[in-house]
Amino acid sequence: MPIDPTTLKGNWNYPTRIWFGPGRIAELPQGCASLGIKRPLVVTDPGLAKLPMIAEAVANAKTAGLGVAVFSDLRPNPVGKNVTDGVAAYKAGKHDGVVAFGGGSALDVGKSVAFMAGQTRPLWDFEDIGDNWARANADAIAPIIAVPTTSGTGSEVGRVSVVTQEENHTKRLIFHPKIQPSLVIADPALTLGLPKHITAATGMDAFAHNLEALCSPMFHPQADGIAVEGIRLVKEWLPVAVKDGSNLAARAYMMAASTMGATAFQKGLGAIHSLSHPVGAVYDTHHGLTNAVFMPYVLAFNRKAVEDKIAALARYIGLKDSSFTGFLDWVLALRQELSVPHTLKDLGVADDRIDMLAEMAAADPSAGTNPIPVGVKEHRTLLEMSFAGRLG
Ligand code: NAD
Repeated sequence: MPIDPTTLKGNWNYPTRIWFGPGRIAELPQGCASLGIKRPLVVTDPGLAKLPMIAEAVANAKTAGLGVAVFSDLRPNPVGKNVTDGVAAYKAGKHDGVVAFGGGSALDVGKSVAFMAGQTRPLWDFEDIGDNWARANADAIAPIIAVPTTSGTGSEVGRVSVVTQEENHTKRLIFHPKIQPSLVIADPALTLGLPKHITAATGMDAFAHNLEALCSPMFHPQADGIAVEGIRLVKEWLPVAVKDGSNLAARAYMMAASTMGATAFQKGLGAIHSLSHPVGAVYDTHHGLTNAVFMPYVLAFNRKAVEDKIAALARYIGLKDSSFTGFLDWVLALRQELSVPHTLKDLGVADDRIDMLAEMAAADPSAGTNPIPVGVKEHRTLLEMSFAGRLG
């Protein structure tokens, strides 16, 4: 029976308050009122700022009497300066809350602006290492509403912002429990115009989050449950969303899969991400697409540690061949169907800085929860395999 996408709505409270469903962006003024925000700063990217969805949301907020302004001076794979500039705009406009509106880049800058608006230390002092986060003045963090317009990063429900430190081309994970937005308005209709290649790349990001969370060796059965269902949704709906972007049910299920990925990865990530962060920071490649390139190589490398888990997953998502090899073959076929490059070279990455990338990957916080311990040597091997297109 065909699915009526208007029924795919609900108010959820896990992992944060989520108003989910097509058309729910119209409730932005009520969202602001619920958090006592009277002068929201909408943080978005320059491309989205030109689209009617931002103009409509701003007009709706103005009609409701809110003192709204837009900040959009940020780039994909955002850098520290984008946050500094956003904080300046926030203070100059005497704002009292942030509406982070866009893909992961805009969401991460918006979350960081709200976080940094009341801090005295530099952003990098809050990198996700040990209990750095406890240095922050939590009372000074401005309220955040997140409105995702891609289905991939799940940043709308996450407790980190990913920002590149310009001086050393390093992606830093800025962590604080209160950087998680207090309200998410997850309106899948906002993704109907997302181009095919971004739909594919961001969808593979959602897949990578769920998959690495499941493979992480940490004990967290709740996260495991979310991750397997997230992967099932990706299997069923990502090819549909890429083929027919106007399919609202597919858009809704992918938006759910994306929030599920970021919910599950509280359990940890792995070498897909520890490799993808330096490659994205140095070569400015798209995060989700970079994850998609690394996925089969890391999966094959981790085989010994995850074989049983992956076979159980393959049974759950209904693969005909529910062995580890069957799952790996399906990942390769999905990548091909979505036109994901097979090698790092095909992604446009040069092979002249393998040593540097391996060192950066070994230092990335995601490396710590890969199911097989990975240091510089192992990351180097994975990089070589990913350049050569070799799975074993
Ligand atoms: P993005 O935010 O960089 O957006 C990619 C492009 O899509 C932009 O040009 C944007 O204008 C366009 N776009 C976005 N929504 C659109 C829409 N509805 N219609 C038409 N165009 C649209 O891409 P992304 O993949 O969402 O985010 C990537 C960033 O997120 C990276 O910086 C990555 O490191 C970060 N990230 C963060 C987390 C986290 O937990 N905080 C997790 C994963 C990735």
